[in-house]
Amino acid sequence: MNPTETKSLVLLHHHLKTLRLPTIAAECEKVASRAAADNADHLAYLLQLTELELLEREKRSAERRVKAARFPTIKTLETFDFAARPSVNKVLIAELMRCDYIDKKENILLVGNPGTGKSHLATALAAQACASGYRVRFYRTTELVTALIEARDERSFLRLKGNLAKLDLLVLDELGYVPASKVGAELLFDVISTAYERTSLIVTTNLPFESWTEVLGSERLTGATLDRLTHRCQIIETKGESYRLHDAKARTRRSTVKRPDQPVDDGPASR
Ligand code: ADP
Ligand code: MG
Repeated sequence: MNPTETKSLVLLHHHLKTLRLPTIAAECEKVASRAAADNADHLAYLLQLTELELLEREKRSAERRVKAARFPTIKTLETFDFAARPSVNKVLIAELMRCDYIDKKENILLVGNPGTGKSHLATALAAQACASGYRVRFYRTTELVTALIEARDERSFLRLKGNLAKLDLLVLDELGYVPASKVGAELLFDVISTAYERTSLIVTTNLPFESWTEVLGSERLTGATLDRLTHRCQIIETKGESYRLHDAKARTRRSTVKRPDQPVDDGPASR
């Protein structure tokens, strides 16, 4: 490279830095030699570079959204065993992964016993929403109620409510594990009614509807909460036994099955 070329390159990198185009800066020389070898024209070269910058930007902002959502663990649909949970409609879940329910401000309610994959599905759906550009926050319901109670009377209460209002999707995991106090139940109702027709909710619960009064304390509040939550809502039931139990049983069964290199015992009939 002659001194003029070196100078241009230094200047180019400087401009790209000022313009905040780090991927173009990192890739421009490599793509330039490839473009020269392929006889690609200038516009094709520019198109390739801008595409790379855009892809990298989208990837980084999706990562930021996943971080901001604060998932306790990352779960994907690829690791969800639909055969083990026949009550969950695979086609419906695939449709929900397209996130149309968020645009329509609809809710998803996952109901079932502990260990039946409710949080797994909620996380997979919410992580997809992050990837598709939606603002998401995952809360254990008690964690959110506690945060609201502790922030009451303070400016931080309004800040927290403001942050919730900015979301496209709010996940309330494990609603009903601990009975809420009267104040807690009212705050939870306030979150659900504020979200109504504005922010989609994914709620997971082990409570059948008839037991919600025990948690929310009053018939009136339960009725009003369920009314808002279930209006325009997909209800997914994860029926059956805990997956951990199912998994443990399957492992035990596998370890008792004979390995192929062991002599085959055809049973008494072949003797
Ligand atoms: P819940 O929220 O209903 O109590 P989780 O979603 O936390 O249950 O599931 C418990 C554990 O079992 C998690 O590690 C989860 O990934 C796993 N799990 C549950 N159901 C399935 C499934 N159908 N396929 C694969 N893993 C599952
Ligand atoms: Mg759970």
